[in-house]
Amino acid sequence: MTLHRMPLAESPPAPAPLIDPFARAITYLRVSVTDRCDFRCVYCMAEDMTFLPKADILSLEELDRLCSAFIVKGVRKLRLTGGEPLVRRGIMNLVSSLSRHLESGALDELTLTTNGSQLPKYARDLAAAGVKRINVSLDTLDPDKFRAITRWGDLHKVLDGIEAARATGLAVKINAVALRGTNEDEFAQLVRWAHGLGMDLTLIEVMPLGDVDGGRLDQYLPLSAVRAQLAREFTLDEIDYRTGGPARYVRVKETGGRLGFITPLTHNFCESCNRVRVTCTGTLFMCLGQDDAADLRAPLRASERNDRLFAAIDEAISRKPKGHDFIIDRRHQHPAVARHMNVTGG
Ligand code: SAM
Repeated sequence: MTLHRMPLAESPPAPAPLIDPFARAITYLRVSVTDRCDFRCVYCMAEDMTFLPKADILSLEELDRLCSAFIVKGVRKLRLTGGEPLVRRGIMNLVSSLSRHLESGALDELTLTTNGSQLPKYARDLAAAGVKRINVSLDTLDPDKFRAITRWGDLHKVLDGIEAARATGLAVKINAVALRGTNEDEFAQLVRWAHGLGMDLTLIEVMPLGDVDGGRLDQYLPLSAVRAQLAREFTLDEIDYRTGGPARYVRVKETGGRLGFITPLTHNFCESCNRVRVTCTGTLFMCLGQDDAADLRAPLRASERNDRLFAAIDEAISRKPKGHDFIIDRRHQHPAVARHMNVTGG
């Protein structure tokens, strides 16, 4: 089945690129294609979640048109995420359709973040559609801990998914959230495992997004401490490597592999932020850690032409805030924003 694309408005002259009030060029769009997921990670969702009504969710054709409009506006990197992007029905039709922007040269990279559970089914199609690299989220190599963190997940299925992706030639980066008392004794092992298979590893600080069952302080582990711990075991050499995302990398001398740190709490990098996020209902969030948002679904549906959509995007970018200020400590245990990560897209 191919995606029936809505006509892109023939709107000369080319719309102006997206520059925010702090002179940052917005070239990276993350799209949450569904808020649903086959896992219930304890730091991401509550166990008993209410999902968005299906009627509110953009069709794949609408998502395609929305992404394409951002590409016309200068987005060069597109990441599909969720929820779990690979549980959205028909997702490969969207990926295949969007890959035309890789072929045309309008897009540098089409990628996705996944929990890996569906990769045995989709890895080959992703590679065939021009996806070169994917991020797989994996916080532990211990099957019992994995089940405890994800509530519903099966580690072996994910490891099979990673193998399937690697077998098709996809570059896999592993993302692990650092969780106090859960995986804090495993980072050296994760480094050796990921690097042993030729995969980059990125560690992420837990962010106070949405109410989850239990306090954030119990989960939060500053990466400054993790880095110091790893530096006792490995030689960490600073490198300039960048992927267009927020991670800062070192090379681990002993393994030869790259290790990234995403530190929204101990050291945010908002000054170089180049990204915005759109949800599966067409809500644009200009910052992961702020509530301000713009509705793009109404202008998208109001007309087959893109003029209103472009205007709504421009207006939203003119309001992109300087950054977020996540804090997790004894006095700040409430969510910085009410929505969970599965809605905004990780
Ligand atoms: N289901 C896919 C996955 O598991 O990768 C994509 C969506 S998931 C929300 C994207 C990433 O966000 C995952 O790496 C997940 O670990 C991370 N994440 C979720 N909630 C988080 C939080 N509160 N703080 C930090 N990272 C979080």
